[in-house]
Amino acid sequence: MAIKHTAISYYGFNYVEHAAADFKEMKEHGCDTVILAITEFDMDFWFPNINAIVRTAHEAGLRVLADTWGIGKYFGGEQVSLFLQNNIHHRQVSAYTGEVLNHACFNTNAFRDYFTGICLKLARETEVDGFFWDEPHYAYPKGYASITGGVGDDWACRCPECMKKFEAYYGYEMPKFMNDDVKQFRWREALKTLADCSKAIKEVNPKLEITCCVHATKNSYYVTEMRGYDNWEMVAACPYFDVFSTTIINWSLPESFFKEITEKTVQIAKKYGKESERWLMGYLADPIDETQVDRIVDLYESLGVDRLASWTYRGGYGTSVAAPNPIKLWDTIGNAYKRVKK
Ligand SMILES: [Zn+2]
Repeated sequence: MAIKHTAISYYGFNYVEHAAADFKEMKEHGCDTVILAITEFDMDFWFPNINAIVRTAHEAGLRVLADTWGIGKYFGGEQVSLFLQNNIHHRQVSAYTGEVLNHACFNTNAFRDYFTGICLKLARETEVDGFFWDEPHYAYPKGYASITGGVGDDWACRCPECMKKFEAYYGYEMPKFMNDDVKQFRWREALKTLADCSKAIKEVNPKLEITCCVHATKNSYYVTEMRGYDNWEMVAACPYFDVFSTTIINWSLPESFFKEITEKTVQIAKKYGKESERWLMGYLADPIDETQVDRIVDLYESLGVDRLASWTYRGGYGTSVAAPNPIKLWDTIGNAYKRVKK
């Protein structure tokens, strides 16, 4: 088994010469790919600088993936959303209470056009090597699940646009209770948003690589997360995705859980002819002991994972979500990368 790529995420779009020094440090930490966390504000304000940053990463010998980070609060990420600031419509709605939520409804034409527009601008006007779909999700359900019950009762999205689309397809009003038609509708529409955008990107440049990274949840017979991308078979089968990735697992979770998630990730990726990717928590929390990073990296490699990725550069140093010992964590991950990267 061989690890083909080692990635680290990065927030900085401000000054090219500073980014150049950071990229050099990433190379020294065994990284071959930088995942740029591009916010709506970066697109709006720092866009003239983005390709200069991309070129600088290339000069340093790094591949560059664009992460549409936290856009519309549809993707994972702490950033704020201009879409939500600039639109009072096109938001997800709670099925049980009817309350309008602070998440864009990604099944609406308004959001799909906005999101696709951002991606096509990056595809056409920058030299990125690909895109990274970062934990796309419906607002609900989420949280801890019991083996005998659902994850949560309430769900999204039951906005006027989703309701209209549901009724046109199934011939009856979208129910407030999540039945099998609602489940299918949510999966189908969620995947359509990403599949259509990915297809449009590949029509601009077929070499642009697409990674779809979904939440690392068990999705067992009894309980699934139901945030739209929990049907892994359906996601991995999408012909426009090149890499099937499952996201970070907190260091404090049992290592049997890391194994279970990784086995399933690799198996499904292989089944649909994709490369597999697994993540390392490089922010917020330290590993439980000195050797855990190496143990998990070895586990990933032994189970046939193609790619490793970590969030984020320097352990999140200087941010609200930094690891307790961010630089030490960054160095530990870097050493593990250098050890296994072929
Ligand atoms: Zn909706």
